[in-house]
Amino acid sequence: MQPISVEAFASMVMKNNKGYRKKELVKTLNDTLTAKKNGAKCMICGAPIWAAGSAITGSNLCFTCTTGEANDSDDYEIK
Ligand SMILES: [Zn+2]
Repeated sequence: MQPISVEAFASMVMKNNKGYRKKELVKTLNDTLTAKKNGAKCMICGAPIWAAGSAITGSNLCFTCTTGEANDSDDYEIK
């Protein structure tokens, strides 16, 4: 995972997707990141959640269960 700030990730999502409001997106990202820091687990396999992905999908899932991929080196995680 490549660490990225909440602000930078939100900007990237806004650029690639229509229909997000930045303020709400940043809040959701921060909430999900807090949940991860508090030990939120993937609801399928029990691994730590992928906060960036979980904020977008609205479900607590790890990277692999979100994307079906094992290699997360090209993807971002908020910090
Ligand atoms: Zn999982």
